[in-house]
Amino acid sequence: EVSLAPQQETAEQDVETTLRPRRLSEFVGQARVREQLELVLHGALNRGDQPDHVLFSGPPGLGKTSLAMIIAAELGASIRVTSGPALERPGDLAAMLSNLAEGDVLFIDEIHRIARPAEEMLYLAMEDFRVDIVVGKGPGATSIPLEIAPFTLVGATTRSGSLTGPLRDRFGFTAHMEFYSPAELELVIRRSAGILGVDLRDDGAVEIARRSRGTPRIANRLLRRVRDFAEVRADGAVTLEVARAALEVYDVDEFGLDRLDRAVLGALVRSFNGGPVGVSTLAVAVGEEPTTVEEVCEPYLVRAGMLARTPRGRVATVSAWQHLGLVPPQHAPG
Ligand code: ADP
Repeated sequence: EVSLAPQQETAEQDVETTLRPRRLSEFVGQARVREQLELVLHGALNRGDQPDHVLFSGPPGLGKTSLAMIIAAELGASIRVTSGPALERPGDLAAMLSNLAEGDVLFIDEIHRIARPAEEMLYLAMEDFRVDIVVGKGPGATSIPLEIAPFTLVGATTRSGSLTGPLRDRFGFTAHMEFYSPAELELVIRRSAGILGVDLRDDGAVEIARRSRGTPRIANRLLRRVRDFAEVRADGAVTLEVARAALEVYDVDEFGLDRLDRAVLGALVRSFNGGPVGVSTLAVAVGEEPTTVEEVCEPYLVRAGMLARTPRGRVATVSAWQHLGLVPPQHAPG
């Protein structure tokens, strides 16, 4: 297990910030989302209106935070960033909302984890740009209405299914982010290599893109790891051979599956004979949080055609068995 010292972790985050696309035109892939967003933003700009609230859903690392920042940039507005878990008390949200300036973008990451009272405060804020501050307790409590500046809320979630109906309904534009194709990831990697000054060769770019789990954040991370390898063990050029050797060191397999992905598939196949098995049982078997298995691992395994979600639980497909070098049983779905 590689563990990073805090200082190194910060450096990693700094690199991530450096690599963030700043404008819609720099944002690779997600063509449909980009086109729709452009219409939403420029429509509102032309009319001089505040754009509708926007919700992005999809697995981590697909560009939800980047798009929130791009929305602010395209609108020429400032952005305030917070997250669902940080908004435990309604007072935290009230403070955030009352500090907004007209036209600001408020970004709430992991919005599905917002506490109920804060969520209810958000309804009124999104709808009427107003909050009701409750003063006092019991029968003597009164609520004081407080105007807030018109703003655009951008929410991001890895679980759109766990958003309540009333919250979801208050977003005027909702986009689901899909995994990126290898060709799109290649563009992401080339752009990042340009920014970081990496000597990236064509076949090296193809190989890293192919093994990045459809995820730009992972593509950028693998690029940096392969660069380390290229500089320490080779002449610095990221070629196909260097990429292959480096990814082997970092436990990324032919399909781009990492150790946790393989652990999940391995447990499913070996301990539960391919399932069906519930996600919490599976999570215990690999020693992970159920939410990590469900929101980080599973979406890609499903997309790669190795895992199926059925009403009775998770099931390994024929390709999962084959990927682990095992003979699939009769009952395994194709
Ligand atoms: P999320 O909020 O969905 O977890 P982020 O927006 O934080 O994802 O993206 C993670 C990193 O991946 C960013 O720092 C950026 O470098 C890269 N990235 C994500 N989407 C794109 C994209 N479409 N084009 C280029 N880089 C991207």
